Amino acid sequence: MNRKINILVVEDDKNICSYITTILSANNYHVTTALTGKEALSLAASLCPDVILLDLGLPDIDGCEVLSQLRVWSHIPVIVVSARILESDKVNALDLGADDYITKPFSNAELLARIRTSLRHSRGNSQNKIYKALDLEIDFEKRNITLEGKQIHLTQVEYQLLSLLAEHSGCVLTYRSIMNTLWGPYIDNNNQILRVNMANIRRKIEKNPAQPQYVFTEVGVGYRMRDNEYETIPESLCQIPKQFNVHDITRKGDNEL
Ligand code: CA
Repeated sequence: MNRKINILVVEDDKNICSYITTILSANNYHVTTALTGKEALSLAASLCPDVILLDLGLPDIDGCEVLSQLRVWSHIPVIVVSARILESDKVNALDLGADDYITKPFSNAELLARIRTSLRHSRGNSQNKIYKALDLEIDFEKRNITLEGKQIHLTQVEYQLLSLLAEHSGCVLTYRSIMNTLWGPYIDNNNQILRVNMANIRRKIEKNPAQPQYVFTEVGVGYRMRDNEYETIPESLCQIPKQFNVHDITRKGDNEL
């Protein structure tokens, strides 16, 4: 039998911590908890968990500092779970090396989906040769894109941008990380070139570019592409304990704001 996937939950609010633990345990994950940043760093080193859920407002070291220290030696996927809702906080955490970011309150399904996405990417399953969602299909080997079976023609840059997002489908990529990948670190901070290319892509693949189905904008942060259906575990396989719902987690009492 396969070993259970280990998740380190770093959260100083005991109610939220036990809530997340219950959700994860019900879905067959093995959970270890840390209430402080120091504890988190020490457990990350000793346990080498498969995924870390990291709160930012911790009593000793700020979660961003925990993330920076962790990234010196580790590529363990980190999903920030925070009440900080400012775009700058999200961008900062993602640019420091977080794999994803969830704001409280969050839905159980969303949390579980983000964990699955992070695990998939860390295991290299994203090396899939095909991306497929709804009517859109990208064959990375043939560099071929079809929408409802009809070929879509993209420029070189548009293709690079769309395939980068598709390879990280389900994850948010910050504007800066996309700019760095496509144009190198010396491109200026102006996102205009990115917006223009995205507008062109959306005109070609979205039925209604104002309400995209494939590439979503995380305002002020970056873009997230719809999950690859070839890789996605059906939602029906997720176990969500009946006694919980999204309203159990509120920002009330959280010390982060
Ligand atoms: Ca906290």
